[in-house]
Amino acid sequence: MNVDLLIKGAEIVDGSGAPAAAGDVAIAGDRIVAVGRVEGVRAKRVVNAAGHAVAPGFVDIHSHSDYHYLLSPLAESAVMQGVTCEIIGNCGYAAAPIWGPWLEDRAREYKRIHGLDLDWTTVAGYEARLKAIGVSVNYGVLMGHGTLRGSAMGGADRPAKPEELSAIVEAARRGMREGAVGLSTGLVYAPGCFADRDEVAAIARAVREEGGVLTSHMRSEGDGLLEAIEEIIGIAETAQIPLQISHLKTMHPRNWGKKARMFELIEGARARGVDVMCDRYPYTAANTGLAQVMPRWALEGSKDEQAARLANPATRARIREAILQETPRPERWDTIMISEVTLEKNRRYEGMRVGQAARLAGKEPVEFLLDMLHEERNNVDAIYFAMAEDNLREILRKDQLATLGAVAIGVSHEINNPLAVILGHLDLLARRFAADAEALQRIDRARTASRRIADMITHMSHITRLELSEQSPNLPPILDLRRSSATDPEPS
Ligand SMILES: [Zn+2]
Repeated sequence: MNVDLLIKGAEIVDGSGAPAAAGDVAIAGDRIVAVGRVEGVRAKRVVNAAGHAVAPGFVDIHSHSDYHYLLSPLAESAVMQGVTCEIIGNCGYAAAPIWGPWLEDRAREYKRIHGLDLDWTTVAGYEARLKAIGVSVNYGVLMGHGTLRGSAMGGADRPAKPEELSAIVEAARRGMREGAVGLSTGLVYAPGCFADRDEVAAIARAVREEGGVLTSHMRSEGDGLLEAIEEIIGIAETAQIPLQISHLKTMHPRNWGKKARMFELIEGARARGVDVMCDRYPYTAANTGLAQVMPRWALEGSKDEQAARLANPATRARIREAILQETPRPERWDTIMISEVTLEKNRRYEGMRVGQAARLAGKEPVEFLLDMLHEERNNVDAIYFAMAEDNLREILRKDQLATLGAVAIGVSHEINNPLAVILGHLDLLARRFAADAEALQRIDRARTASRRIADMITHMSHITRLELSEQSPNLPPILDLRRSSATDPEPS
């Protein structure tokens, strides 16, 4: 047999849960053709891996790399963590399908901020662009509910008209046929937040009919957390669609006590047969737009309309009042960090808490914040420190959860979430921590969770098993999960 690459004498951690074993890995083209003791092959290149471990790449099921791939196609922040497959398009915000006023709006912003030309409208068009530049990781594309809604009806705060809903449903069906793996929602964000439950259920049902899954950044992760869980589980039940609740959390100290009821709702749904799972990143701060501190109505419409509200003194005063009502305690401004701006003049505030930055600017916090949002056209990223460490630990301990925070190292949500799947490293870790009972327990939990997530990934349509070669009949499922890119349609 001729192969391109032979990795020899490695410690192979194959992700099946089997103990690590010494062996070789043979690769022809982009396929693994043999694992184990590989003999009698001619390899173009041989890597002597003695003393090193070889494991399948990790799958990050909650990534926002959609546009980042165009900016850094090598996706180093994923690859350097061992992530070789990402599910992108989360939280209702996706690169495709997108059209109409929403495309114009977003194209203008991305051109201005990143110099990017957004020249596609469909999933096929987007994937063609990715293929043309060559992205180093595999990816599965979720369609964003917010992006679909904005495309069909702009940022309007009202129910979708029947013809708008059918445009969304049609675009979602087409997106699925072009290779998307499902639908994501961002029901806390404009314009997704303007949709009611029936609208989301109708789209989810169509997505399910095409074989997709539903992931959800729910309508609330704080004051309305329990209602939001009931809503999204209800949607999944109505649409008969597998549901992944994204980054489960109890946001703000006043809601930390809701965790028992939160688990009851999710576990109760599972017990009556709803296919629901959830994930969680392993830190206690959330990354999202600074504009989220504003009332919902202030985020209606296009970027121009939003900016006009902040430019109008009377409207700005109403926004200010709403923010102060929501956040009467000034200490809150020291729990929100400015993480990314677009204007050079504001760079010095990156990494500062809003309170600290406002003091530096000599302004009162809300004034400072509104000035900055106006200047930046709401394009400011922030990190909200609002979660409890013990809630985090408890969530990560739940075995229906996908994320393995205990053994993952995270970077900012925006760039790449921490590893959602760690299959493979666990036996190696177990050996390394053989004397540490607590670590062994954690690793064991990680094993259970890994199997769950592998199950979830296999739900996903368009992710198919590679043909198993005769030499490797025992390839674990995660090794041969791969998007069926060979059958993707041509861009239209
Ligand atoms: Zn989210």
